[in-house]
Amino acid sequence: MMDKGLLVVISGPSGAGKGTICKEVLSRTDIKGSISVTTRSPREGEVEGVHYYFRTLEEYQQMIAADEFLETASVYENHYGTPKKPVFEKLDKGHDVLFEVDVHGARSIKKKYPDAVLIFVMTKDFDTLEKRLVERHSETSDSMKLRLNAARHELSKYEMFDYIVFNEELEQAVAEVLDIITAEKCRIKHNVGTIKKLLDS
Ligand code: 5GP
Repeated sequence: MMDKGLLVVISGPSGAGKGTICKEVLSRTDIKGSISVTTRSPREGEVEGVHYYFRTLEEYQQMIAADEFLETASVYENHYGTPKKPVFEKLDKGHDVLFEVDVHGARSIKKKYPDAVLIFVMTKDFDTLEKRLVERHSETSDSMKLRLNAARHELSKYEMFDYIVFNEELEQAVAEVLDIITAEKCRIKHNVGTIKKLLDS
């Protein structure tokens, strides 16, 4: 019933569980995800248009010049971006869209699209975050320190977010994200067109 779909952006430090929450929300609802563009080569099993849109650096730079991204990020040698057009097409058709980006990405999205709902996912404390990163076995102790410092820095940007979800227990965190989406969809500002049509009927 909303005038158009809701854009929901999940962000937060690595290890907080934002990816898992996103996956769960997408698999349980008809909310749409977003497929990013990347300049890196496909890994085994990755499919064009499913995992990423794989583009050359030149093509990516042309997309930047044409202002085709909602937000971009450079990770190591590779570049990533969220294409604007498919997201806005889905929103215009009334579909809700949800995806995860880092805090910088979240800020760019809010700037370009102030109606976006920004949710920060965090563990209940930094020790839990460290424990989760240790359990992932993906970090050296140097990169662990970097990630924990980054997490503190990301949390310090809390004011730009609309909501925070403390991911102590996955089911509860997913339920909270779904509740946020439900409440946001009922906001008057997202339903003005529908209300006016009702009044004119
Ligand atoms: P990978 O190359 O392992 O698939 O992704 C590397 C990093 O890039 C991950 O942290 C992933 O979340 C991030 N990433 C992937 N797509 C995008 C995007 O469109 N925007 C931003 N800001 N980060 C992205």
